[in-house]
Amino acid sequence: MTSNNDEFELWDLRVEVIGDQQTMVCSHKAGDHFEVSGENLKLPPNQSFSIYALAAILPLLPAKQRQTHGNDWMTTDAEIACPDPHCGARFRITRTGKSTFRHSETTVVPLSCATDE
Ligand SMILES: [Zn+2]
Repeated sequence: MTSNNDEFELWDLRVEVIGDQQTMVCSHKAGDHFEVSGENLKLPPNQSFSIYALAAILPLLPAKQRQTHGNDWMTTDAEIACPDPHCGARFRITRTGKSTFRHSETTVVPLSCATDE
């Protein structure tokens, strides 16, 4: 990789509430969603999202943004349960497309500091 080409791609994600409305205990509504591109999370206007559900989903988002091995469970598994054990909501993570970013625009750490090459 040259210093003029420090681009990399990440998957854009959509996280959507799925499930039977009768089994949902929290304020989720089927079809509620948010999108993730790079470091940014976008909610539709006038739609909220449970912070407890978000806390359960957040650890998986950076992994789902990155290309994973075809045999990796992170590639195939896409549904997360609500952390409330009485709530039937599930949250489906879908890879919707890819966005291109530049290393030099996302960090001040130089590429020469890469530790896994
Ligand atoms: Zn819930």
